[in-house]
Amino acid sequence: MNEPKILVIEDDKTIQNFMKISLKTRGYSYILADNGLSGISLFYANHPDLILLDLGLPDIDGMEVLKQVRRQSNTPIIVVSARGQEREKITALDEGADDYVTKPFSAEELLARIRVGLRHKNSFVSKQSTEFQLDYFRMDFEKRKVYVHDKEVHLTPLEYKMMLLLVNNSGKVLTHHSIQQEVWATTPQMITSRCGYLWPI
Ligand code: CA
Repeated sequence: MNEPKILVIEDDKTIQNFMKISLKTRGYSYILADNGLSGISLFYANHPDLILLDLGLPDIDGMEVLKQVRRQSNTPIIVVSARGQEREKITALDEGADDYVTKPFSAEELLARIRVGLRHKNSFVSKQSTEFQLDYFRMDFEKRKVYVHDKEVHLTPLEYKMMLLLVNNSGKVLTHHSIQQEVWATTPQMITSRCGYLWPI
């Protein structure tokens, strides 16, 4: 099997070098881009398995790169952001990033997130499957049932929907906003409680 190919879109040479060495020592192949536009063209030309994306790029906003890639593919994207940019991270996750690392980060942290991202990518292959199993947890999509240690767990339709969303996005960080949108926004009937929360009815 070919080693996974990682596209690094990062203008900071020190961080780029650090990533390069971390990836090389673990046997990943890599492609480097110093700015957003060359990152996008390298993405199209090389079909990487995962993208490490800095948000602060010299030409176009990293968020723009994220949107363009997402329009075309589900390639896992790990956003690299500076400390304190919480809002930016959340926006990136809502726009389809899979995860993020905050500078400064260790090689081990970066590699762990890459492993999770690649697992997520591979889980797309088995999306047609009628079942999901992880250790003692099993979900049957046809029967819409969930089992723990082979014992059925009763879930309300809404709980099932939320579980399904998490299973379909295993390995991916989901924001409160995206869960709310996916689970509640598609629930046909809603009432608004006095405290402003949405409750399905
Ligand atoms: Ca930068």
